[in-house]
Amino acid sequence: MKNKKLVMIPGPTPVVRSIQDQMGRETVSFKDPEFMKDYKDLIVDLKDIFRVKGEAFVVAGTGTMAMEMAIANVTKDGDNVLIVSNGYFGDRYIEICERKGLSVDVLSAEWGDTVTPEEIEEKLKEKDYKAITVTHVDTSTGTVAKVKEIGEVVKKFEDTIYIVDGVCATAGEKEYVDDYNIDILFTGSQKAFGVAPGLAILFAGERALKRREELGTIREYYVDFHKWIPIMNDPSKYFGTPPINLIWALKESVRLIKEEGIEERYQRHIEDASYIQKKLLDMGFDILAKKECRAVTLSNVLYPEGVDDGEFRKVLSEEGVVVAGGLGEYAGKLFRLGHMGNIDKHVIASTLAAIERTLERIK
Ligand code: PMP
Repeated sequence: MKNKKLVMIPGPTPVVRSIQDQMGRETVSFKDPEFMKDYKDLIVDLKDIFRVKGEAFVVAGTGTMAMEMAIANVTKDGDNVLIVSNGYFGDRYIEICERKGLSVDVLSAEWGDTVTPEEIEEKLKEKDYKAITVTHVDTSTGTVAKVKEIGEVVKKFEDTIYIVDGVCATAGEKEYVDDYNIDILFTGSQKAFGVAPGLAILFAGERALKRREELGTIREYYVDFHKWIPIMNDPSKYFGTPPINLIWALKESVRLIKEEGIEERYQRHIEDASYIQKKLLDMGFDILAKKECRAVTLSNVLYPEGVDDGEFRKVLSEEGVVVAGGLGEYAGKLFRLGHMGNIDKHVIASTLAAIERTLERIK
């Protein structure tokens, strides 16, 4: 009999049946009154859950598009920006900002560690930075940045817009937009929301919207807040054809989040991560991220001496679980295990058991 494969990479994460069902519905017109209401209700719920008085955008595209959308709406040519990089996805922002003609400074951490709020405060004193970007969880390292404490720091710098990349965090790691002084937070549907890939979700607080106003016409078209705000407030208007089934799928994900409770969801992620990480350590693996900055959404798991990455992941896949390889200099040295979104105790138990069977088989 063929094994079902559990996809335990850090995105796309497992999509539960009730969300799949929304994807499989017959597609209607985007002017369908019920769909327009669903879209509108989704936007209202998202703003409520993530506590933002400004705007929420749900737009077809991936996390990378959301990165561009964030920076495009709050900066203009030549502006100083500070990029805080705790790994591969922090580094991705460097190229995005350089191509946009921004003047880029970077604060980087060793992989497995994070830049501290104190280092950020010192750096922000140096120049008039128009924006700072911080990756909440860098998927390449499994580290979590102190976004709340960094928010307290950025608050002291009036001109600096605080952008948080929540792609591997939002709906798993604790995050509230206005409460944490975050100006822009974004994610993709395929991570802790547990929806198929294809949607970018972005929140813009009031300070970010004011900055957008001040910029006048921006060069970018598809990602311009001003093109989308009328649609988010009134989905009967048209700008780009909405991805109807994905929007329904996200609405179902939000329904599940409301049913669970966002605080309870955050707590579940904490408990699951500590259980999984303890079991992996007991099996002889190590975790790349330092203890004090370990994410709850994924683990980047270092192999014990003598375990070959290719063989391990091939046998693990035969045992029914797919994980991702390491990035950058950690390629071949670790595997990346997602544990975010809508996964239950059965999925966790099956995953850990498959890892144990794999170790048995390859030793
Ligand atoms: N930021 C982070 C932290 C990510 O993990 C990813 C994707 N793994 C991205 C940005 C880019 O998202 P996407 O692949 O959806 O474009």
